[in-house]
Amino acid sequence: MAASTSLTISDYKLHRVRLDLAMPIGDSQVEFAVHWMTVLELITANGLTGIGFDLQQGKPTPGLKQLVAQFEYNTWPAIIGENPCGLALGISRPRGGNVGAATLPLAVETAVWDLMAKSLDLPLYRLLGGTKSAVPAYGSTLDYRLNDDQFRERLADFKTMGFTGIKIKVGHPDIAWDLNRLAIARDVMGTEAKLMIDANEAWSPKEAIRRCQIYLDHGYDLYWVEDPITREDYAGYASLRTALPMTRINTGEYLGFTGKRRLLEAGGVDVLNVHGSIGMSRAAAYLAGDFGIPVSLGNTLLEIGVHLAASLPEVLYLEYSDLTWNKLAKEPVRFEKSMAIAPDRPGHGIELDQGALEEFSQPD
Ligand SMILES: [Mg+2]
Repeated sequence: MAASTSLTISDYKLHRVRLDLAMPIGDSQVEFAVHWMTVLELITANGLTGIGFDLQQGKPTPGLKQLVAQFEYNTWPAIIGENPCGLALGISRPRGGNVGAATLPLAVETAVWDLMAKSLDLPLYRLLGGTKSAVPAYGSTLDYRLNDDQFRERLADFKTMGFTGIKIKVGHPDIAWDLNRLAIARDVMGTEAKLMIDANEAWSPKEAIRRCQIYLDHGYDLYWVEDPITREDYAGYASLRTALPMTRINTGEYLGFTGKRRLLEAGGVDVLNVHGSIGMSRAAAYLAGDFGIPVSLGNTLLEIGVHLAASLPEVLYLEYSDLTWNKLAKEPVRFEKSMAIAPDRPGHGIELDQGALEEFSQPD
């Protein structure tokens, strides 16, 4: 029977996982100590399993029974019996009330790309057109809620892992706090390391220019300044680019596709930040390339974005924060000498460690 051996989605498993973080993570706006993950396994009639993840920070997700009921109601009818390749490559435009129907949840999107690559026996980055598995990566400390000693410890860990680029949090109301953290980062990482800062939208355009000028005057050569002002202030971003020619403005992380387009059109970005959705990130990176603007990859769940980074043109850097979610992987993505290495296994190459999955599963 052809149907029983075809590449069509026939079954699924959902897991609700609680991961306590080794240290609280945060920035000028938020703080989290726990990650709640939804792990999805999509199974095809011919026996392939595609894996995807979703994340909620801090606040618990609904219990597993409710997650399953939501999935069965909202998502399963649209994907059961479908070929994952069509789901991965399909494009639809949200119009009117069909916004939900026009986008796949992140876990589903990741799982169908995983299935498509597995069905072709290709690593995902190869399917996406990449030819080299290694991409530059920087350590990202997510340190705003850490005291100076913890911050030093975290920086030292990244240095030991071989990172030669580091991004730290700024945006404290007291500029002396920011300057102290920059001094610590310089002290631990050395003057050769590339230094980036992320304010997570803490400032007005004028305050961003004032602050960055002071950091530059103190001798900090900043490779980029990330999200200095609110995400949709496109004119503000354009003014920052003019006022701060000595550094790069990295933004776009918090914007959807339309916002990223408007940002590019306004001339408001030096490095467009993409992450998460493979389809949307490819479209945004293609558009950025048309404007002559490079991209960076923000943190992605279990570092699956390494495949995007290895396949998109003009990627400057991939972010790495060494988070607990990698405990779920049999073999997590490797980082060596400040490079991320995309797994050369079929699909995204992240298989679940069943023991860890059991240990961290929390159905209720
Ligand atoms: Mg950021």
